[in-house]
Amino acid sequence: MTPIDLAVVPAWAIAVALGLFGLTIGSFLNVCIYRIPIGQSIVHPPSRCMRCGKQLRWYHNVPVLSWLMLRGRCGFCGAGVSARYPAVELLTGVVFALHAFVFEPGPLLLVRLVFAAVLIVLAFIDIDHRILPDSMTLTGIPLGVLASFWLPPGWRDSLIGVVLGGGSLWLIAEGYYRWRKVEGMGMGDVKMLAMIGAVLGWRAVMVTLVLSSCSGALVGAAMMSSQKDGMRYALPFGTFLSIGALVASLVGEPLVTWYLSFYP
Ligand SMILES: [Zn+2]
Repeated sequence: MTPIDLAVVPAWAIAVALGLFGLTIGSFLNVCIYRIPIGQSIVHPPSRCMRCGKQLRWYHNVPVLSWLMLRGRCGFCGAGVSARYPAVELLTGVVFALHAFVFEPGPLLLVRLVFAAVLIVLAFIDIDHRILPDSMTLTGIPLGVLASFWLPPGWRDSLIGVVLGGGSLWLIAEGYYRWRKVEGMGMGDVKMLAMIGAVLGWRAVMVTLVLSSCSGALVGAAMMSSQKDGMRYALPFGTFLSIGALVASLVGEPLVTWYLSFYP
């Protein structure tokens, strides 16, 4: 059998393969989102129904399809299964597929897929619990720097990214605290942006900060105008950092080039 030369496989074909792969990874990410914050193992035991406790069969676990076929219910007892499960699977599939149009098959693609998976998990854990586990943010910093010794953005840009990402958000958090005397942002966000800087480098980490602040401010303003007590619940800023970092990972460089084109 001759090995397939990936350089001649069209991007759409790789996108389909990555999309299907992403659907199954999304299924695993659902497990991570549920179990990591409550300190359970992500590999054991196998998934069970939360009501009847029966272990799911393989055909209950086919991404998106099982949920559709079972009409959002447990295959044993009929308990409702949240639409968020297939939504996370679909989201992961789409995000993975998009990577095919930006990265050549290789180690950098792999790093960015793992990074995207971590961002998706952090985004939903922050929505559910308003926390960003150190096991993901702090662990990601040395791993991101290490990978940068061989891959873009390079170790210098990566280290500057850690300092700039963590430092800028720490300053904002500290400034807000001094000004309003309430905590507007947690240290979790600071560590998360440092991790993003380690993986993407200092340019893309700045893109991330701008994108997530703008999207967070927009959603915050919309919530304030739609409900009077909306701001009593702090927005999960980690979720916006995830969205910003995903965009920056995929189109950060073209965005920076486009922005700098206004300054001849
Ligand atoms: Zn059940």
